[in-house]
Amino acid sequence: MATIGSDILDAVVIGAGQAGLSTSYYLARRRIAHVVLDADATPGGAWQHRWDSLTMHDVHGIAALPDSEPPVGGSGRANVVVPAYFGGYERDHGLPVLRPVRVDRVEWVGDLLVVHAVDRRWTARTIVNATGTWTQPHVPCYPGIETFRGEQLHTVGYSGPEPFRNRRVVVVGGGASGVQLLGEIAPVAADTLWATRSEPVWRTDDFTPERGREAVALVEDRVRRGLPPRSVVSVTGLALREQEQAASLIGAYERHPMFSRIEPDGVRLPDGSLWPADVILWATGFRPAITHLAPLHLRSEHGGIQLDRSGTTAIADPRVHLVGYGPSASTIGANRAGRAAARGVAAYLDQRESNSSSA
Ligand code: FAD
Repeated sequence: MATIGSDILDAVVIGAGQAGLSTSYYLARRRIAHVVLDADATPGGAWQHRWDSLTMHDVHGIAALPDSEPPVGGSGRANVVVPAYFGGYERDHGLPVLRPVRVDRVEWVGDLLVVHAVDRRWTARTIVNATGTWTQPHVPCYPGIETFRGEQLHTVGYSGPEPFRNRRVVVVGGGASGVQLLGEIAPVAADTLWATRSEPVWRTDDFTPERGREAVALVEDRVRRGLPPRSVVSVTGLALREQEQAASLIGAYERHPMFSRIEPDGVRLPDGSLWPADVILWATGFRPAITHLAPLHLRSEHGGIQLDRSGTTAIADPRVHLVGYGPSASTIGANRAGRAAARGVAAYLDQRESNSSSA
């Protein structure tokens, strides 16, 4: 049983990516006492771990953090430019980020939350979870997966196209990462096979900001009902950009249904033929990094954490907020979620104070 530390904070923010920094900025503006605990040794959230060939020109657009200009675009590496931008932001705004601190468990002690990281702990009235998804890569369980003699890796292990030169590569996954990685790999590989579970949804010419908002609203609705969130791109659809044209011209985006099994030398296609492969690249997405919240029992019967209309407050417990989760898992969504979470924290603290003064 944990004991309560002597300093009680109003809030602990877990994670210092876009969502955590935005939250910290808005908490600081409201003069709410808090710390931000971040598992990485240096600023940058998941951006510091993106592959080297991903330039600012390749990213889908990175929204400016609150009260700042967006990071410069161009040919700079995203895993250098964005971390430098985040680091400068933390410094300029004096945000109370502590690192490296990997939170392993959060639990209740009385009406306070105790946040544990190995042998350290922080006690708070509320928490804001901003841990993203990068640390929870998802690889589906596939028949024969353990028998494959070639190399298997997930998007998190991708460092650029060069290791795939002259090799036969299966790229699995119909999301934005699959499309982007195929665009880099196909022009240098001996051959590629793109396998996706369902038919990819290509964005049509009539995709407007209004349609984008409608798509995000669909993810919002899932989270309000307590269902596991889907990625925003799964509802906005895919688009080929200039960078993907070379791969497109050589037919890399001819989609194949999922293979029936993996064998030592390749993948067995639904028509019974073997597609010999040297590498399988799983661009199969991520899951929210929330295992440390398990002791709080926040999951609904549908498997997701149900959030209220603010989009950040857990229905199961108004002292717990999630940002960068579900519909706010984009840089612009993370910004808005930070503001909403700070508002939610303030509302809870006000309510708590008025309850104790009227008791
Ligand atoms: P992250 O950036 O992942 O930050 C989470 C932080 O939490 C990290 O610093 C991590 O160290 C920390 N953390 C994790 N677990 C713990 C723990 N247990 N204890 C303490 N700290 C912890 N969105 C866009 O808007 N534009 C894009 O171009 C774009 N491109 C993308 C490309 C890829 C390949 C992927 C996977 C996503 C992309 N996204 C993009 C989505 C984007 O990553 C998110 O919207 C946003 O950057 C995520 O911010 P975040 O703060 O939620 O998470």
